Amino acid sequence: DHLVNQIAAGEVVERPASALKELLENSLDAGSKNLQIELQAGGTKLLKVIDDGCGIAKDDLELALHRHATSKIASMEDLARVGTLGFRGEGLASIASVSRLSLTSRFNDNGQISQYAWRVEADHGRMLDPEPAALAAGTTIEVHELYHQVPARKKFLKSDATEYAHCAAMIERLALANPQVQFTVIHNGRAQNRWQAGDLNKRAAAIIGEEFVKTGIPVDEGFGNLRLYGIAGSPTLGKSSRDAQFFFVNGRFVRDKVVQHALREAYRDVLHHNMHAAFCLFLELDPEGVDVNVHPTKIEVRFRESQAIYRFLITSLSKALAKTTA
Ligand code: ADP
Ligand code: MG
Repeated sequence: DHLVNQIAAGEVVERPASALKELLENSLDAGSKNLQIELQAGGTKLLKVIDDGCGIAKDDLELALHRHATSKIASMEDLARVGTLGFRGEGLASIASVSRLSLTSRFNDNGQISQYAWRVEADHGRMLDPEPAALAAGTTIEVHELYHQVPARKKFLKSDATEYAHCAAMIERLALANPQVQFTVIHNGRAQNRWQAGDLNKRAAAIIGEEFVKTGIPVDEGFGNLRLYGIAGSPTLGKSSRDAQFFFVNGRFVRDKVVQHALREAYRDVLHHNMHAAFCLFLELDPEGVDVNVHPTKIEVRFRESQAIYRFLITSLSKALAKTTA
């Protein structure tokens, strides 16, 4: 089982940023409103997330570190309409198999806060029994020395600065998709970012830029069970902004050919040659219309009706863009 976990780890957690994504998605799934993220050495030495979510009951703590133990789906039908970010139940097991991990949590059962917090620790898959711990609320997870004892993976890690850049980009995506959640980011003991809870405009201004929001075109279009909303960067925003292209499907950041093609098409007539539009757009659709199961890292999606999505994106975005150029 340990080997299976380590192999899975190579797929699910390529690098510190992907482990961090698993941790943060768990915190968001737990309904957290305040996330504190502490990293050391680009996340290779320490990834720590402190959340204020619902916590984990003592009896479920060890289970949480086991493979395919998920509290989020109960049946195969559920799998077709996952509403949570995680659902495979392999994130924590994978991370625990290639690091020293400590998971401390205080369960909050709809306002009934349990008397103690509990902590479990795992050292490269070897788990210790839960012990009582001190924690006011929520869950705190620490991942130490990810891949340090797995030479075959360790050699793929880049410099701390590069690994940190990947973590920072990951955090930005999650923060844009969850503006109602406060994020605090600390790296090597230094405060990097604090994004107060607010709306999308406020969050996008903090992350993408004031200018992007000020000149941006608000989008909110619907058709049937499809909805597209967010901010489309002004074609006149004076920079090439490939780094500021954020697209989310049902709350998940994705990079998808159908989407990219549709957006390029919608922007084609209004954008100067060789420029890239910035955007922060959210597509919402019936969960059954999109397969998020394509790959464990879940950056790709597969639409059931990609032609319809393609046309909807072009139509909605062109309509929004026409309002400003008219
Ligand atoms: P998944 O997210 O796919 O269910 P994970 O391995 O990421 O699987 O997590 C296993 C389980 O641990 C989750 O289903 C959830 O019940 C619990 N869990 C993990 N992190 C947290 C957290 N921060 N707050 C509350 N519960 C958590
Ligand atoms: Mg998860």
